[in-house]
Amino acid sequence: MSKIAQAASIDDASVDDLKTSFRGQIIRPADAGYDEHRKVWNGSIDRRPGLIARCTGVADVLAAVRFARKQELLTAVRGGRHSFPGHSVCDGGIVIDLGPMKGIRVDPEARTVRAQAGVLLGELDRETQAFGLAVPAGIVTHTGIAGLTLGGGTGWIMRKYGLTVDNLRSVDLVTADGEFMKASDEENPDLFWGVRGGGGNFGIVTEFEFRLNLLGPQVMAGPVFWAMQEAPRVLRFYRDWITGCPDELMTIVTQRKASALPGVPPELVGKHVLAVVACYAGPVEDGERLLRPLKSFGSPVLDLCMPKPFVVHQRTFDASFRHGWWYYVRSCDVAELNDDIIDIVVEYGKRILSPITSIALWQMGGAVARVGASETAFSGRNAGFTFNINGNSESAEGFEAEREWARAYWSALGPYHTSVYVNFLMEEGEDRIRRAYGAEKYDRLKALKRKYDRTNFFRLNQNIAPD
Ligand SMILES: Cc1cc2nc3c(=O)[nH]c(=O)nc-3n(C[C@H](O)[C@H](O)[C@H](O)COP(=O)(O)OP(=O)(O)OC[C@H]3O[C@@H](n4cnc5c(N)ncnc54)[C@H](O)[C@@H]3O)c2cc1C
Repeated sequence: MSKIAQAASIDDASVDDLKTSFRGQIIRPADAGYDEHRKVWNGSIDRRPGLIARCTGVADVLAAVRFARKQELLTAVRGGRHSFPGHSVCDGGIVIDLGPMKGIRVDPEARTVRAQAGVLLGELDRETQAFGLAVPAGIVTHTGIAGLTLGGGTGWIMRKYGLTVDNLRSVDLVTADGEFMKASDEENPDLFWGVRGGGGNFGIVTEFEFRLNLLGPQVMAGPVFWAMQEAPRVLRFYRDWITGCPDELMTIVTQRKASALPGVPPELVGKHVLAVVACYAGPVEDGERLLRPLKSFGSPVLDLCMPKPFVVHQRTFDASFRHGWWYYVRSCDVAELNDDIIDIVVEYGKRILSPITSIALWQMGGAVARVGASETAFSGRNAGFTFNINGNSESAEGFEAEREWARAYWSALGPYHTSVYVNFLMEEGEDRIRRAYGAEKYDRLKALKRKYDRTNFFRLNQNIAPD
């Protein structure tokens, strides 16, 4: 085993030395707050780092990276803590936590925004929506902008405005050698290509600069629910109906047991339901007109699709993915929703046991598919739909059964798997990472890794090993 992997203890003298050049908090196992700060969003991950470096700015990140290099520490990098497999915490070693770096600056005239690496999606939306502008990002507001962007970034307005990476103008980054760099189309374009989908493999991004797009602030959005028994008809209608819809419309199909959330009538709670959640990124009246056929199809048991502020819509799924519950995800892309796939969806939907297990079936396409496959490291632009199958429980109790359900659902879809989105992978091994990028892009990413991180210092991620 390498020295890096073994490094579990860190000597006090070197930490005292680090403290002289560090403005943020250094937290060690005996310190107050250690248990709070070692936690990540996925409660099934329980690791004990030797040191947590809570960075307040670029200088702290430089100091932390140089310290970790010198001490040969296993290094985890953390933005919003939402890595499904828990890559942002390690046993022994160091966590470089960007969480305190919350700076956001909107330039409404230039329609750009700069956001530091600790910003969460809801925080970014709050600032940009104050000007009726938005960066396309994900669907749960407590997710970190950093990890999400570096993997690609799918969300409610991507079909109209592209992925998060398609709106990225530049990054500031600290390399594995502890050097500061910028990357954009003009500066270090190879690195800029790599950070648009290649994850945290090439360095620690300290700040992102995005292009902004017009949005709302009022949008026509929300879920329409049907009883699961109606799912076969609803899904067939949905599949045909969305083919004629414009890029302004984005939908996610979800299946779960209805939970006791605001607006959900008590008699529905605990019942198996299927919902189509929509967001129309255009004038509210156009969205209302477009969504009428969906809202009146069959016998909806609940309709919460209505005009609302985009920031409110963005919170739709927040309560369903609380910090600390136990999460397991399996994901795949498929080309289309054929009858076989619909049958699988219906069958596994009926088998949901846990009140917090669910799936999200993402409609892809639109602006995402119009960017050339080789323009960014992100792959899977031609996917028709993305499955996100979440087998969840509130604690260890029942978790294994949920994992089994998720694996079985995913395996049943096996004949139809195409690509997979790297941010929806668990710890699944090199073949799956290669599959996420495709062989050609994977080789290009490896070459880039050799250039920017030849010792694989940044290895706690969906790792692209240099050799
Ligand atoms: C509830 C939930 C909802 C989600 N919804 C969406 C969605 O709508 N769309 C979507 O595209 N994805 C979504 N995801 C997946 C999400 O994009 C990834 O989990 C992402 O890694 C989260 O980023 P983070 O900063 O919160 O995570 P962290 O756990 O902090 O970081 C994850 C990894 O990203 C890398 N990383 C983080 N910060 C930096 C940095 N500053 N520099 C370099 N590398 C860094 C590291 O390798 C780290 O291990 C969701 C995940 C969850 C848990």
